[in-house]
Amino acid sequence: MDIPTNPIWQQHLFLGAWQTGDGEQVNVREPATDEVISQLKTATPADVERAATIAKAAQKRWMDVPFDQKAEILRRAAALLKERADEINCWNTRECGSIGPKADWELQATYEQAQMAAALPMQPSGEIFPSNMPGKRNYWKRVPIGTVGVIAPWNFPILLSMRSVFPALAMGNCVILKPDPKSSICGGALMAQILEAAGLPEGVFHVLPGGPEVGKGLVEHPLVKMISFTGSTAVGKKIGETCGRMLKKAALELGGNNAQVVLEDADLDIASSCGAWGSFLHQGQICMQTGRHLVHRSVADAYIDRLANRASNLVCGNPREQVHLGPLINETQARRVEDIVNRSVEMGARVVAGGKRNGNYFEATVIADVTPEMPVFSEEVFGPIAPVMAFDSDDSACTLVNESPYGLAAAIHSGSTERALKIANQIQVGMVHINDQTVNNEFQVPFGGMGSSGNSGRFGGPANIEEFTTSQWVSVMEEGIQYPF
Ligand code: NAD
Repeated sequence: MDIPTNPIWQQHLFLGAWQTGDGEQVNVREPATDEVISQLKTATPADVERAATIAKAAQKRWMDVPFDQKAEILRRAAALLKERADEINCWNTRECGSIGPKADWELQATYEQAQMAAALPMQPSGEIFPSNMPGKRNYWKRVPIGTVGVIAPWNFPILLSMRSVFPALAMGNCVILKPDPKSSICGGALMAQILEAAGLPEGVFHVLPGGPEVGKGLVEHPLVKMISFTGSTAVGKKIGETCGRMLKKAALELGGNNAQVVLEDADLDIASSCGAWGSFLHQGQICMQTGRHLVHRSVADAYIDRLANRASNLVCGNPREQVHLGPLINETQARRVEDIVNRSVEMGARVVAGGKRNGNYFEATVIADVTPEMPVFSEEVFGPIAPVMAFDSDDSACTLVNESPYGLAAAIHSGSTERALKIANQIQVGMVHINDQTVNNEFQVPFGGMGSSGNSGRFGGPANIEEFTTSQWVSVMEEGIQYPF
């Protein structure tokens, strides 16, 4: 696909319709080559004010659109995602360094989110409760929150924005999306085009690319009634503080440092394949990435050999070619990964495979002799690094998993499902996968973390109805009654 020469996002923002914006125009860089491939108009806090005002006016009308028409728009959006797949995938690769299969998977998952959201408006929207007052009826119904601000990261920019945008719209809310400027074309501008072409009424959906100041403007705006944030724990905490002060609903999906536990009765070929996938997919830039491999001491060397063999066979290069790993998002992140590896090696860790940076690229890396104090073990690295640490008993494996303040995902490999389930019951994470890998996401199952990985916000399946609505109790007396005064 050719990059367009004068795309609409170069001069315009989507404020419910394409409008010229006053904000800065920034260069969009391709992480694989460091070339400038497009320009992007970014928003200002004044644009947040404009979008919030437009959205407030549009929300009442959107809420009243009949459920079958809302569903039809979302189904059309799903169809357009497939029709424009080549273009969307091309931008995902060029803008974010995604290899083809990752881009394909992300688009399919986003399509499924749209289809699932299309089914939401026709779900029951309330319940009837009994009353001890004769002639009184109690209705309890779900109502939209109003305007929802969605703030998304750059690593899976399409899925992680639209998994909030689609259900929020389905439940009758307006949405202002702030994508990361590193991924605002595939994770913002193209999605605006798709929802506009699907027939979403003007004013209902807005895209405001920009950095922290635009995100802050959205969080602090009184007309924005909920924030759905996916990103780092540090930023999530700040957003949570502001929302708490403003009594604003906040769904926070944050970082992770996820463990894969391998017991001595596990199938090591399967476990090492899961470990490689979990650590190296999308260069490790995934919140559910396997950041800690905890392996029973009696099989640790055999597991490390298998994992290192898999890592050594992975090709790293420009994702427009047939490769397994593309670049990291930018050089700052690649250097950060290098620094974490180097500091851990100085503390006694041993690089068994990979370990080298070349510009924005970092090899699939396996590290042994790891201890809990090393940054490669204790920090969320967000790079293609697989640190392995040995343990001696199931209890000590649980203690190691729970030592991390994060609690997003975990995997457990064992020949005994009972034994794995016992461990699952003792670890504090939001998602546990037995004999599988940590990077698991199914659109119909509630997704989310515990501890520093989130505030128990959940996306997917029935959780979407709860997340993107509030409720109203309406009681009706058939005849009015007299009270004592
Ligand atoms: P980040 O927190 O730096 O940025 C995320 C978004 O927040 C971006 O759009 C950014 O512009 C915006 N932002 C930054 N500062 C802000 C502020 N003060 N107020 C409002 N908005 C602000 O995260 P990132 O580096 O883009 O993404 C990587 C992080 O996201 C990792 O920690 C990863 O684990 C996490 N993540 C979590 C999930 C999940 O579902 N739990 C999914 C993907 C990524």
